[in-house]
Amino acid sequence: MSIAENLQKINNSLHPGVQLIAVTKTHPVERLQELYDAGHRVFGENKVQELCDKQVLLPKDIQWHLIGHLQTNKVKYIAPFIQLIHSVDSIKLLAEIDKQAERNQRVIDCLLQIYLAKEETKFGLSEEELYDLLGSDKLKSFSHIRIVGLMGMASNTEDRDQIRSEFRHLKRLFEHCKLNFPEKADWKEISMGMSSDYSIAMEEGSTMVRVGSSLFGQRKYSQ
Ligand SMILES: *Cc1c(COP(=O)(O)O)cnc(C)c1O
Repeated sequence: MSIAENLQKINNSLHPGVQLIAVTKTHPVERLQELYDAGHRVFGENKVQELCDKQVLLPKDIQWHLIGHLQTNKVKYIAPFIQLIHSVDSIKLLAEIDKQAERNQRVIDCLLQIYLAKEETKFGLSEEELYDLLGSDKLKSFSHIRIVGLMGMASNTEDRDQIRSEFRHLKRLFEHCKLNFPEKADWKEISMGMSSDYSIAMEEGSTMVRVGSSLFGQRKYSQ
């Protein structure tokens, strides 16, 4: 199947109000252009360098999302154009995003990444760290970032019940934050679900799904 056909199939399977983030990592710009020509405009990359390299080569109306771990020293490269950062996991990183956003006279939307999985390798805040961050006085001084919700990745497992319970947990955290920290964020987005589990994620309340291999086929190498 072509990228355009894959896109149509995925778009047809999305629940109302769910946004598709096309995960383009490892794929060459020609294939991203194909997706663009099929009408898609929202692209996600997990590495700053690769994201910036592709951004300069592709049409300027693409909305770029960063979905992978972000180091503070790299924020400056994406601050001029990034639409949404899914992977914020510390107040220090938020402070740097705020600073770089101000330099670019922008407000940058951010999601707080929550550690859901049972795997050591994944990034993200624990529940306790999330509440500490939202309760921090420093947050008030940031005028060039806007927290718009939460992001999480489920365990890499065949156990669908496990995946579902992790997504359900994220949705519950989101509702808790919305209720207890209403003024700290514009609580509207839950970024959860990838190629293998986005239908479960949508059933559990996802508003953004990050899909790569179902669009482009398997990656030769993955991150
Ligand atoms: C690679 C990646 C995805 C997409 O994975 P697929 O299985 O190819 O759909 C989603 N989210 C993050 C954070 C990723 O790094």
